[in-house]
Amino acid sequence: MIPKRDAFLLPEGQAYLDGNSLGPLPAAAPARMEEVMRSEWGEMAVTGWNRAGWMALPETLGNRIAPLIGAGPGEVIVGETLSIRLWQALAAALQLTDRKVVLTDSGNFPSDLYMAEGLLQQLGQGHELRVVAPEEVAGALTEEVGVLMLTEVDYRIGRRHDMAALTAAAHDTGALALWDLAHSAGAVDVDLRGCGADFAVGCTYKYLNGGPGAPAFLWAAPRHHGALHNALPGWLGHAAPFDFELEHRPAPGIRGMRVGTPSILAMAALDAAMDAWEGVDMAEIRAASLRLSERFIAGVEAACPDLTLASPRDPGQRGSQVSFRHPESYAICQALIARGVVGDFRAPDLVRFGITPLYIDEAEIDRAIAALAEVMQGRLWDDSAYATRAAVT
Ligand SMILES: *Cc1c(COP(=O)(O)O)cnc(C)c1O
Repeated sequence: MIPKRDAFLLPEGQAYLDGNSLGPLPAAAPARMEEVMRSEWGEMAVTGWNRAGWMALPETLGNRIAPLIGAGPGEVIVGETLSIRLWQALAAALQLTDRKVVLTDSGNFPSDLYMAEGLLQQLGQGHELRVVAPEEVAGALTEEVGVLMLTEVDYRIGRRHDMAALTAAAHDTGALALWDLAHSAGAVDVDLRGCGADFAVGCTYKYLNGGPGAPAFLWAAPRHHGALHNALPGWLGHAAPFDFELEHRPAPGIRGMRVGTPSILAMAALDAAMDAWEGVDMAEIRAASLRLSERFIAGVEAACPDLTLASPRDPGQRGSQVSFRHPESYAICQALIARGVVGDFRAPDLVRFGITPLYIDEAEIDRAIAALAEVMQGRLWDDSAYATRAAVT
């Protein structure tokens, strides 16, 4: 069953296993963009902020994402980029604790580490970003830790943290839990409320298919909504932006985390992507993802003994991507792309595949296995055409 294949315009003739990096184009998005441009921007011009509901899009889109991550209405705000949302969420969490240590792991995406480090330096209050190995996180939850800041699913190998257990462990020691769902939203069955998490952030251009550079989202548990600290208090997070008061007075609830003018055209594309997600049950997606991943791993291991599985073998500890190690992974990836199988390379030695059952099925998985077998068995990667790295890998 591919519930929504028709809802996407997949690259012609390709097995697209890179939806974890950039989701494909929703079929309805071009017409939606055209309509928003012509009928709203073109016809309404500035009145579109009211008449077309532009100003409310950060909240209405947040409400559409909410069911996919176990959040409720009025809890998710859309806009800005993930790096910026992470800064805001971490600053908001730090405002709720006197402790100075932020605990994270070395599998985290570098931008999260850079942004956290930048924020902590900016605060100038002696905070420390403590980075431990992913398997050492639970043991490192000491009483010094104020915020546990983790990306649930590792971007390179797809290792998935136990969000419920680590959130509970953080709370037991008096820490808050902030989760980055970049490789979780639309990929695995996330239950933010059920886990009792404090804050979460994520992007919408990976598994959610919102388009290149699509806006990010931020979630805060309702129990924090009464005292949400916005470290980037732009005018649209103000309770009454059009009163143009000189002092920032935060809007109530999640709206107080808004920063600046929303990117309406990007949000139109994201809204079309959310139409494709309408009515999708994440538990079904998760089950299909695991079925396809198991098939892929078994097929590749049988045909390509030189490739070593880098992702966890235990499906419970895996997100929705499968990665293999090989010293020539970059060239292998290029040779695959030349054969219409699109995965990606992650330094230093990983070839990575996103498993996205919303629009792919066994046919793509089997085609990818066959192409990998051909490339590995014939050493087809060993070609100078595949040796030069592009700027974006
Ligand atoms: C993709 C990703 C990012 C990217 O952040 P942007 O600000 O959207 O460029 C950040 N963090 C993680 C964990 C990611 O996977």
